[in-house]
Amino acid sequence: MAAKDVQLHAAFGDNDFFREAFNYNLSDIEQWLNDCVAGKKGGDQTKKEEVRKKLLGIKGKLFSLMVPNGCQFVNPSAKPNSHFPRRVRVNWLEDKDPVKFNLLCWAIEHQGALDKSLESKWANPYDLLGLFISSLGPAPTTADKNNYFLPLAAVYGRWCSRIAGHAHWRWGWKTRGNGAGDWPYMFQVTWKLVKAPVDKKRPAGKTPPADYKVFFLGSSMAGDDWVENPQYEDKYTGKWRRAVQRSRFNWLYHGLQLKKFTLNDFDSSPVQINKETSSNQPYGNCAETYPFIFSIRSNASSDNKDLMGLALQRDYMMDEDLKTYNHDDVSAYLCGPCANCRKLISDAGAIATNFSVTKAASSTRRKPKATTAAEIKTATDRMAAVNDLPPEGWSNSKEDLNIEYYWGPNGDGTMAAQQVGLTGAEGFMIVSRNNGGDAYMFTASTGQVYLWNMVTDEIYEYINPTDRTAILAQMKMPPGKGQLERKLLFGGDS
Ligand SMILES: [Zn+2]
Repeated sequence: MAAKDVQLHAAFGDNDFFREAFNYNLSDIEQWLNDCVAGKKGGDQTKKEEVRKKLLGIKGKLFSLMVPNGCQFVNPSAKPNSHFPRRVRVNWLEDKDPVKFNLLCWAIEHQGALDKSLESKWANPYDLLGLFISSLGPAPTTADKNNYFLPLAAVYGRWCSRIAGHAHWRWGWKTRGNGAGDWPYMFQVTWKLVKAPVDKKRPAGKTPPADYKVFFLGSSMAGDDWVENPQYEDKYTGKWRRAVQRSRFNWLYHGLQLKKFTLNDFDSSPVQINKETSSNQPYGNCAETYPFIFSIRSNASSDNKDLMGLALQRDYMMDEDLKTYNHDDVSAYLCGPCANCRKLISDAGAIATNFSVTKAASSTRRKPKATTAAEIKTATDRMAAVNDLPPEGWSNSKEDLNIEYYWGPNGDGTMAAQQVGLTGAEGFMIVSRNNGGDAYMFTASTGQVYLWNMVTDEIYEYINPTDRTAILAQMKMPPGKGQLERKLLFGGDS
């Protein structure tokens, strides 16, 4: 499909930055970051010595956490590999709720859209990359969602996938990336138009200062495999994920200029108290965490009304051969804010629709490339056998399955199955809430087994093997050993 694409804005001193940067590999990215620090790339900001100094500091920390050999990432005295700086806790296994590591972090100041700069804590390459790129802003006033901020988020997400982590294997992608943990689930950018102050003493003829759009990029929490099952001895880290979530929660709490929750609300965010969802995310887990710290001002009545934002779900990178930025393909993965972020947006006095997915920015769901093509994916699902438990990362608990909600007469699962002509759909296993809760396996009256991608609403049929027990056995194979083939099903309207 050689469709005409959106004309993209210049960025960071480069006319074709977004389209070129979208395809950067790890060494291209390192080179570009180095060139920014040297003042050779990055546009106007890197001409300033104080900015280059700040970027140099961020870069050193960022590189220490990156693949393949960042010294903090591969730290031999704190195995397994993790993209968080950490130290092993003495006698940690003796604790009631064991946590293997103490999280280390750095304090770095940034101003963003705030009245004055603020010091926050940083401990992750995805967040540090967001800070690095955001420090090269602001964007010009001609930058908008389609020509600037969406491609910016898409490039940021692609770079995150190059510097750390690995592909989200549950979608049947071949193993991509040699980092720790799935890539972040979501990427977000928040921006704000800042009016230049009126200078009454400006002599006639001198050009007035220009308005600009200040922005901040962030990703949802990721960067570790978070293995909570003691049977995986070398990889077991106890409740380390929760400890890191707690730190991010604290940093969000302390950073926000305007907050209406308390330090006691770690387990009572709107998402957590909603029994209808299969998600269990505290405040601070979202991609909005740092963007909101550096965008939300203290005065709800006026300062935050013009905040804008978009969130991009990582599956726009699902195609392994992805080479070109395409507006329609990427914007199909735009997402609205979760209940936690909707609460923060409303607390800030910002406008909810400025963060929602509008028709103007997003065309319809990604359409199949050809009506007759059966997209066959070979999965090398990565996990180890653990008795009768569901495969690692999946859940079959009654609470997570929430059968009535998803598979009742008007449930989303029932609807998605009907779109491809399936009846009698019955879900039996869902991606666990800690892993995003974004896919559901089900059977139908055909007797076959299917996968519902809950983000895109696509349905896949397992074609080799086809038997439920055999499929689960493949999913429980050790890393890289399992083989699964499935095809994308198409609805009658395509
Ligand atoms: Zn959120």
